[in-house]
Amino acid sequence: MQSPATDLATKTREAHALLNQLYGVQEIYGRADPMHELIGTILSHRTTHANEVTAYRTMRERFPTWEQVRDAPLPDLIDAIKTANYPEVKAPYIQNVLAHIIRERGDVSIDFLRDLSTEAAMKWLTDLPGIGLKTATLLLLFNFRKPVLPVDTHVHRVTQRVGLIGPKVSAEKAYAMLLAYLPQDAKDLFNFHKHFYWHGQRICTWYTPKCHECVLRDMCDYYQSGGTMMLSSTPVPKSKRVGSALKSDSRVAKE
Ligand code: SF4
Repeated sequence: MQSPATDLATKTREAHALLNQLYGVQEIYGRADPMHELIGTILSHRTTHANEVTAYRTMRERFPTWEQVRDAPLPDLIDAIKTANYPEVKAPYIQNVLAHIIRERGDVSIDFLRDLSTEAAMKWLTDLPGIGLKTATLLLLFNFRKPVLPVDTHVHRVTQRVGLIGPKVSAEKAYAMLLAYLPQDAKDLFNFHKHFYWHGQRICTWYTPKCHECVLRDMCDYYQSGGTMMLSSTPVPKSKRVGSALKSDSRVAKE
C-alpha cells in the first residue's frame, strides 16, 4: 500500500501531466531585467497587470535611475506608483530594497544571484526587506532558471481544491509540499506554475469554477465534495461559496 505522501505525489504528477496536455509545455520566459522583475513583483501585489505596468513606467519616467528612486521624496514616489494598490506601503519597501542592494553590492544589480546555489539565492532575497517567498521564487524561476515553485493565489486555490495539498495548508507550506512531489527541474516547475495559474484564471476561478469544462474534475476533491469543502485559500461568505455556484449549475452538480 502506498503512503499518503506517495499518493499525493502521484496525484500531483497526474494533474501536472493533464494540464501540460491542455496548455502545452512552454519554454521558460520572463522579463529580461531581474531588477525590473524584482521591483515589478513588489508593485504587482494585489494589482492588475495593466496597473502594475503603468506604475512601473511612471516611476521610471519620473525617476530614471534606481538611485533617484531610492532618494525620491516619499510622497512623490507614492504618487508615481499610485496605480498600484497600497502605494504608501510599496514605496518605502521599494526604497528600502534599493538602499539595501546598493549598500551591500555597491551597484543596482542582482545578476550575481545566477551564480549562487538555489538555497543561497533564496536566502539572500528573502533577507531583503519586504521580500517574501512568492517574490523570491518568481524571480529565481523566471529570471535565473532555479528549480523553485511560486505559489500564488491561483496555484494555491487550485491545488487545494484538487486536493494536492490539504484544505488548510498555507501557500508557504504548499511551496515545500508541492516541490517535494515534483521533479527538481526548472522547466517542469515553470510549467506547473504557469498551468495552475492559467487554470485558476480561466477555469477554476474564485467564485464560479467551470467544473464542467475542467480536465481535473475526476480527481478533484472539491468537485467530488459537491463544492462543500472549506478551504483556507477561498474564505468567502456563505452566500458566495463556490458550492452554491456548483449546486446551482446542473452541469456540474454531482450525479
Ligand atoms: S473540477 Fe472545478 S473545483 Fe476542481 S479544479 Fe476543476 S474547476 Fe476547480
